[in-house]
Amino acid sequence: MAKFIFVTGGVTSSLGKGIIAASLAKLLQSRGLKVTIQKFDPYINVDPGTLNPYEHGECYVTDDGAETDLDLGHYERFLNTPTSQANNVTTGRIYQTVINKEREGEYLGKTVQVVPHITDEIKRRMLMLGEKGFDIVITELGGTVGDIESLPFVEAVRQLQWEMPEEDCLVVHLTLIPYLSAAKELKTKPTQHSVRLLSQEGVRPDIIVCRTEKPLSEEIKRKIALFCNVKPNAVIEAMDAGTIYEVPLKMLQEGLDVIVLKKLQINGYSAPDLGKWRGFLDRLNYPKSRVTIGLIGKYIELQDAYKSILEAFIHAGAVNQCKVQIVNIHSEYITDDNVAEKFRELDGLLVAPGFGTRGVEGKISAVKYARENQLPFFGICLGMQMSVIEYARNVLGWKDAHSTEMNTATSYPVIALMEEQKKIKKKGGTMRLGAYPCSITKGSLANKIYGTTEISERHRHRWEFNNNYLEDFERAGMIPSGKNPQTGLVEIVELANHPYFIGVQYHPELKSTVENPHPLFVNFVQAAKWFADTKAGAVAAMAETV
Ligand code: GLN
Repeated sequence: MAKFIFVTGGVTSSLGKGIIAASLAKLLQSRGLKVTIQKFDPYINVDPGTLNPYEHGECYVTDDGAETDLDLGHYERFLNTPTSQANNVTTGRIYQTVINKEREGEYLGKTVQVVPHITDEIKRRMLMLGEKGFDIVITELGGTVGDIESLPFVEAVRQLQWEMPEEDCLVVHLTLIPYLSAAKELKTKPTQHSVRLLSQEGVRPDIIVCRTEKPLSEEIKRKIALFCNVKPNAVIEAMDAGTIYEVPLKMLQEGLDVIVLKKLQINGYSAPDLGKWRGFLDRLNYPKSRVTIGLIGKYIELQDAYKSILEAFIHAGAVNQCKVQIVNIHSEYITDDNVAEKFRELDGLLVAPGFGTRGVEGKISAVKYARENQLPFFGICLGMQMSVIEYARNVLGWKDAHSTEMNTATSYPVIALMEEQKKIKKKGGTMRLGAYPCSITKGSLANKIYGTTEISERHRHRWEFNNNYLEDFERAGMIPSGKNPQTGLVEIVELANHPYFIGVQYHPELKSTVENPHPLFVNFVQAAKWFADTKAGAVAAMAETV
């Protein structure tokens, strides 16, 4: 039988519940337990797939094709185990299920209400992963305690806390202890209030995790414990960390895992095995080289929009013991005229995924520069599509070549919609989503990078390389080195006469974890190192001749 841990948040959003949940999960996993994490989000969208990145950051896609919250990315990166549709549930999905059941007559004669029908559906889904062989299921509740929309979720936790044996259910409440610089003091009052709010809703927290800029003294911990009705050892300090990957070690120091195990009455667990994790942190914290990579996108002011890409670079940097400095460059402001100036410092170029017309011409100029200047290039999804368009326009000479996403009247629709996609009217969950196999050509760059010819990667897009033009591209030197074995859809393109140019239709960033850094990112960082060294070598050679 699985045991359940619920993670709630108080005082403010953005305290990092996902990271705390993932860190706790990591510690429990490192002691030999089978752990999974799920996220319950109180908004009414059925899933975050229809949300603009400005609203909710990146949409993370699982192997089974679920469009989910970006916290699931953290869960996978920390635990190195895949999540699925079942790991992310929203209010919209709960209501959709209940309303569908009502229409089918399942509640015949009854008035359908928030309590018990909505809360029962929430509880059913909260317990579902408990039947899949996990020892511990951690549930993160999105939002902040006191929000109107999170009430049914908190009520479901209250009922579960009441129904389950005490040692099977635990509530961890994450709050903020602000530091007032004028008073030179840490303040516990917001935490007291948020715990009171949670208690008014009937939920008694077992552990309080406190986000803080300054260390918590024993006295402050005792004060929080007294007012929040927990023992002082159940008050955990969560100091700001240099990287999210240090948080599990901080939680270990604070004994979060030990108190959780004690409260859940789990005995006979092993000592934490965090050797690989510490090794990763050492390589990350003590780099021996440095590269600068340009990230070309249109959401660059937004940290969360390219979350998985940024994390994949952290993993790949650590493998290479190389500090990867990411320079965000807004695609809307790149032109053929200013690109050389903007890219002067770069050792590699990543053109990001995206939707819609805004900024695509800048992405095309960026690809052109990388192609013509031997700069290592990595295009993901829309980035790959832009590399195809750039090649069509500037090498094949098809001046108005485009994707029909941006120009339906183009004479050369080199990126086009698949037949199945043309009929689709509904937006939610209808893209080409989730894991698909891809066969790689022997001897290609992709083959060298992956070290195999059969891979599986996750997708999230509607448009595809148009195979009507395949031969023209091949003749002109753009190689389709990866294809879907069933449909023949082109998944990878590369260039014959370029040291490192690769575009992929899928999203490799979604599969990069601390333990399994993605080979495409690892190799791209190596290529950037090679470029930096060559550049440095050339400069040195030039200096000698002067
Ligand atoms: N807009 C493109 C498509 O739908 C690319 C999507 C993406 O980059 N994820 O095909």
